Amino acid sequence: MIAPRPTLYRDAALADGPGPSLRRSVSVLVAQRRVLWIRPTSDEGDLPPNVHVIDAGGSTIVPGMVDAHSHVTLPGGSHWIDRGADPPEELLEVAEHNGDLLTRAGVRWARDVGSPLAVDPRDGRRRALALRVRERWQTDPNRPRIRVAGTWIGHSGVLTGGLAMEADDGPALLKAASTQLDDGADFLKLYLDGPKKEEAPWSTEDVRAVVELAHGRGAKVTAHSGFLVGARVGIDAGVDSLEHGFELDSDAVAKMARQGTFLVSTLAIFRSWTSFAQTTTLPRFVSDEGKERIALRRERAIESVRLAHRAGVRIATGTDFGGGSLRANHLAWEVEALVEAGLKPWEALASATVRGGELLGEAEAGRLGEDGPADFFLVHGDPLTDPTALWRVWRVAWLPE
Ligand SMILES: [Zn+2]
Repeated sequence: MIAPRPTLYRDAALADGPGPSLRRSVSVLVAQRRVLWIRPTSDEGDLPPNVHVIDAGGSTIVPGMVDAHSHVTLPGGSHWIDRGADPPEELLEVAEHNGDLLTRAGVRWARDVGSPLAVDPRDGRRRALALRVRERWQTDPNRPRIRVAGTWIGHSGVLTGGLAMEADDGPALLKAASTQLDDGADFLKLYLDGPKKEEAPWSTEDVRAVVELAHGRGAKVTAHSGFLVGARVGIDAGVDSLEHGFELDSDAVAKMARQGTFLVSTLAIFRSWTSFAQTTTLPRFVSDEGKERIALRRERAIESVRLAHRAGVRIATGTDFGGGSLRANHLAWEVEALVEAGLKPWEALASATVRGGELLGEAEAGRLGEDGPADFFLVHGDPLTDPTALWRVWRVAWLPE
């Protein structure tokens, strides 16, 4: 096999640090999928003799993004819930398509927070389908790097039957958690909305026992939280992160900041639902009542992120594609939504890059530096001041030319 030539990206801008300022006129030398150096274009020094020079003038280098809330086996769209019942073989094909979409959108890492249970034909056991995707992708350097929560663990009467694990009391919850870890889940996903909106599905003690079990086995615990009552249980029980956090208050965010609990925002869901008023005929999106309900929830969710940000909560972010209505190449939409919730554009980009890496505990995810992986992409425009630049992807450095 012939080793690929080293590649020089010449005269780009670089959006790699904290703060609103791009570094301009930068050259980046890549070989064997690693960044050898980053230098001023006016001072590149000696170049390898067979180097392939890419004139990157006018574009901006951005670290590969982290979609911290994704469902790689599901397609999204306005019928996203129905699609969860599609045959596993079809969902595995969906995952491959999603892998392409993620990559072309500059997303290097995806944190899968729930996939349907399906019988694995190799041993006849039912386990989360995304575990099989992780296996497929870990040997292919062009595919997104993923970490997988297994399937959702929820109280009966909340999630679509048969696709998730149900647990109605503390012992059942602990057993479900243990089974997920035995199956190979990288972390756990609890569903903290109960059958009754005003009640959490489990007690703080029940959830704390799961957190202790998982931490003892080196795994983190995250929790879906649509309502305040569940958020409180999760925070008090010491979960590592809350997904969505659509209803947080000042006490909740203060405690999250103190404990270092991450919030994983998914605000673009509401942008997507709002667009369905124009593009679908589904009453929940089209009717006046539906539109009003969505507008109210959206306002409350934006307020929650605003509170969390002001309190200093670490915010990672994701599309919820597949498990919600977005598609796998829509992370830019979420970055835009974070800016609407009061984050500076460069802070919002950090949520989609380095904060996601911190949440995953992956030191190289969402970062770019010498001796690190060449996991970056190039866009037109300045994403440190304008999140819409992230839609204009020109080139993805980790893909073969
Ligand atoms: Zn989700």
